[in-house]
Amino acid sequence: MDEFQIIAEIFTPLAGEGALGLKDDAALIAARPGFDLVVTTDAIAEGTDFFAFDPAGMVARKALRVNLSDLAAKGAVPHGYLLNVALPQSVTPDWLKAFAAGLALDQAEFGIALLGGDTGRTEGPLGISITAFGFVPQGRMTRRNGARPGDDIYVTGTIGDSGGGLAIFRRETHALTESQRDFLTGRYRLPAPPAAFAPSLSGFASASVDVSDGLIADLGHLAQASGVKLVIDAAAIPRSDALRAFWGDAAAAILRAATAGDDYQIAFTASPSNRDAVMTAARGVSVMVTRIGQAEAGEGVTLQLDGRALAVPRPGYRHF
Ligand code: ADP
Ligand code: MG
Repeated sequence: MDEFQIIAEIFTPLAGEGALGLKDDAALIAARPGFDLVVTTDAIAEGTDFFAFDPAGMVARKALRVNLSDLAAKGAVPHGYLLNVALPQSVTPDWLKAFAAGLALDQAEFGIALLGGDTGRTEGPLGISITAFGFVPQGRMTRRNGARPGDDIYVTGTIGDSGGGLAIFRRETHALTESQRDFLTGRYRLPAPPAAFAPSLSGFASASVDVSDGLIADLGHLAQASGVKLVIDAAAIPRSDALRAFWGDAAAAILRAATAGDDYQIAFTASPSNRDAVMTAARGVSVMVTRIGQAEAGEGVTLQLDGRALAVPRPGYRHF
């Protein structure tokens, strides 16, 4: 298939309103009075963020979801996205069809549509870059910089599952059941950003951040932007039963989960006066939310276990 066949046959069925059938030079996003447009971009590459043997549909959905977690962390409701693909010669029409089918599933699940993109060849590994757009009520995007001393710290979902899944793919020995193993590898392949929780964030959150590099690393970004110290109760960090069965409950296991990355959850802070509002919102959309610590005057992130601070030699994943 040449570039124009790929666009017409594979991508045009995914095009949303404003995409102009992928037949123009650019797409159109109608301005919405009373709303701000939130914009984010993230790329994933074969060999770094997914394996060459991963199913095409899963790769597509991961590429989209790593962006949806940024929109969710900012309280934005997904609207549309741009898709840039660098395709090696080895990619077949069937692979592309499965890739598009994965996108179609998640477009329906998250209420987002394709607006445009670019299609090119590469001599290197497959690369997928997505830019996503979402709307928030004007002035209500939650930023990293609003945490105050005394605020509670929360995180959605469970932490470290994707890191556990990656360890399994890398053949770390384990004695897990098949379903525990599939749960963890599934979390690596397919993140589950808490999109349904996003619209309520601005009602109570003083600051928020997408957890993608590692819980400690990303909380470090929030601490720095807000000019506060974040004290985390290591034992409170939510970990799945499968991950606990894999890595155990020792300090080293908690530290590993909290620094592994690829979680695509939301960490946020809120005044203690908002505790009921946080939990009510979480229950209303069936998203797990756990209180894991408190902000104080100072700087950095401290991980406490049994009254002492754990050393954190490497707070998260780094590309360089
Ligand atoms: P240009 O010559 O400006 O690069 P293209 O021929 O690449 O334009 O693209 C033509 C149309 O197809 C544009 O609307 C573009 O957004 C769309 N398009 C190209 N590649 C993709 C893709 N991978 N996903 C979605 N839309 C795409
Ligand atoms: Mg182009």
